[in-house]
Order: sequence, then structure tokens, then C-alpha cells
Amino acid sequence: MKTILTIGIVWSLLITAAIAQEQVIPAIRLEEAIVPTPEQREKNLEICMQNLIKLGKSIEVYLEVNGDYPEWLSDLYHPKYLPDPDVLICPADRSGGIALFSANIDPKMPVSYGYQFHPAYRARKTEARLLYGDVIPLVRCRHHAGQDTSCLNLSFSLKITQSVSRWEDAPEQLYETPEQTIAALEAGLERHPYHERLSYYVYPVLARLYIESEHKEKVEGLIKLFRSKMNTDSARDYFTLGTMLGQMNRNEEALQLFKELEAQTPNDPNVHQQLAGLHEKLGNTDLAKEHQRKGEPKPVLLREPEPAMELIGKVVPDFSATDLDGNPISLEQYRGKVVLLDFWAVWCAPCIAEMPKIKKVYDTYKNEGFDIIGISLDFDKKRLRDYLKENDIPWRQVFSGKIMDNPVALHYNVRSIPTQWLIDKDGSLISHQVRGETLKEMVAEALKE
Ligand SMILES: [Zn+2]
Repeated sequence: MKTILTIGIVWSLLITAAIAQEQVIPAIRLEEAIVPTPEQREKNLEICMQNLIKLGKSIEVYLEVNGDYPEWLSDLYHPKYLPDPDVLICPADRSGGIALFSANIDPKMPVSYGYQFHPAYRARKTEARLLYGDVIPLVRCRHHAGQDTSCLNLSFSLKITQSVSRWEDAPEQLYETPEQTIAALEAGLERHPYHERLSYYVYPVLARLYIESEHKEKVEGLIKLFRSKMNTDSARDYFTLGTMLGQMNRNEEALQLFKELEAQTPNDPNVHQQLAGLHEKLGNTDLAKEHQRKGEPKPVLLREPEPAMELIGKVVPDFSATDLDGNPISLEQYRGKVVLLDFWAVWCAPCIAEMPKIKKVYDTYKNEGFDIIGISLDFDKKRLRDYLKENDIPWRQVFSGKIMDNPVALHYNVRSIPTQWLIDKDGSLISHQVRGETLKEMVAEALKE
């Protein structure tokens, strides 16, 4: 009990310190926050790597003492493992200790790092280790976004690597050579030739690595293996198969497959991206452009498919909460309007990057029956209010101060931000991932109906 209390006090002290600091230092402009000078970047990376090495060492000790990994990185904050809590904060993290991918936010104290083995991820990471080996990330820092580094990782084997956000698409970044990657993936597939979630990544990646290392002939065998193992009721598995057919330039077959998938899920940007690529290869420039447009924009954060997808076309269950001014708010109040439910936070850089586009759509259509409800996953009410005022954002906000335990986010099982749900005049969900340029188009269309 005492420990929890101490951690709680440290949390609040750190938050207070962060706020106090904010009042002294002039507000940091977003561009500057995202793109520091090259020297700063270099220095931040260096310190962050040292932090990761220290974390690796303390995890080693923790494992020795407890026989298992910590539940959260905050469990390491103990004289025995990690006496200095500053090691849990990355210098490039402007939020003062909030992991950039919201599902990885440490619930106990400020921690910049995304811990990949926390309770909600443990089962899936255990499976991934069986398939990919111990090179996969255990701790990640996502605060160095840029061309060459989107993630700094500490692997399960306690080595440091740099990779793109979704290493599943490019596991070769975690290995020393492409040959090693191929060997590891082949061994993984031998152990687990089919995995409901991971086959989607492993097969096309291995096919690509075969092609890149001039072993194209091996891909047909891989396609055969996948066909014999795949679940013929799974749209995702057809997607995987279609991807591999496309990689082998079996374009007509792949096109047929993705057209069928498009009929099932007309708003899936991944399907549109595949269709764009295939039409391009087949010389259908106009169709390629059309699908390219529908396939944009790519999500900034790692996103797992959310159950919200099942709600598309159905009436969204109502929520009731209070807005920032203390007034009751629910979806019911917005019936007859096209509504955007925007799950966001001031500390979430990709959300802030999205805001000007949302504001523009709001300004264009606010008098034609379009409205927005912000579901703010902020913990700092003043910072939220300041942001809304400075950026002239008039729509209502639901705020609970509970970050990921915001009751509305929990109610809809939204575990990552930004997430934007577009709801039609009758209260049915149009899309659970409407972003950027697509938003304007979809709002205009929904208002016509
Ligand atoms: Zn870092």
C-alpha cells in the first residue's frame, strides 16, 4: 500500500513539475516538438539508448529475482532493480512520461517507453516470440519519429535495434542480415505453419525477402503451403493470399480476389491500396488513382483491428457523460446530424497533426448539419482547455482525466488514438477509421443522404 502511495505521489510531483515547467518555458510549437534540430535529435537518441541499456540490465535482475518479467516497467522502479526513475523518461518525450501508443501507457507512473509485455499483450507477444524469436521488441521508444528512426527497441534478447513502427512488416530490421531473417522465419513457419493473426505478416514478408534475395522460385511453394493451411472463411487470409499472388505478378487472380474483398469491406484502406497497386501494374491508371485516394491516409500509430468494424452500418449504442462544462451529453442529442466522434488528446502528436484538417471540415459543414464530439483522453484539464481556446475549437468535449480509462473510450473499446468514428443522421456508424482527406468526402456524402 505504502509503495503504491509513494508512486502516486511521485506521479503527481512529476506532473506538477511538468506543468510548472510549461508555465516558465514559452509554449512549444508543434513543428518544433516533432522536428527538433539534428543535434538535439542525436543527443536525445544517445540518452534514450543509454536508458534502454539500463532498463535491459534492470529487467535482467528482475527476471533473476522474480523468475518472470515485470507486469509494467514501473515495477522496475525499486532500489533493487532501477533506483533512478529518470531512466523511464526519454528526453525526446514532450509529454513528460506518456508512451506514444496509448495501449502501452504505464498505469502506475510516468514512463515514456512502450512496454510490449504488459498484461494485455502478454499472450500475443508470447506467440510472436515463438514465430519470430527473441529479436522482437520488448520495450520501445516512439518519441524519435523521423525518416530513419521511428522506433528504438530493446529486444527480448536485450539488444538495441531501430525499426519502423510495424516491425512485423519489416522484421529484417531486427536481424543482422536478410539471410538470418529468412532462416528465422522459415524456422518459425516450420513450428507454426498457420497462425490466425501472424500469418498475415509472416507469409508476405517471407515472399518479399525471397524475391529480393533472388529466390523467387520459393514463393510458389510458400503460396501452396499457405493455401493448404489457411482458413477459407477468413477475409484476412484471402487478403494474405492475394498479397502473395500480387507479389508474384499473378495480377488478374489477385485483382479478382481483392475485388471480392472490396465488396465485403468497401471502406478498408488496405484493400484499396492493394487494388491501386494492381491496377497500376495492369496499366489502369484512372482506377489506380481512384483506389489510391480511397486507400489514404495511412494510420500513424500501430493499430489493431478494433471490434468497432462490426458496428459499421449499425446504430452505435448510446453513451451518456458530462462535457467539459458539466452538461450532460449523449449521442441521442445529435440524432439528425452527421457526427464525428473524435477520440484524441493534446499529448498525442498524431492527433494534434490531424486537428487542422478536422477543423477545416467542421468550418465547411457546421451549418449543414455536421457536428463533432471530442472524447478527450487528456489527464490535464487546464492544458486541454488552453489548447481548445488557442486553436479556437468550439465543439463539445468529454473529459474524465483518466487517459485510457476514459469511460466513453472504454464503452466503445477504443484502445488507440487518434480514432475517429463517423456516424450518420440515423445514428449508424459509417466508418471507424475516417482520417484526413477522406473525412471531408465522407461528411459531404453523408449530408446528402
Ligand atoms: Zn526515446
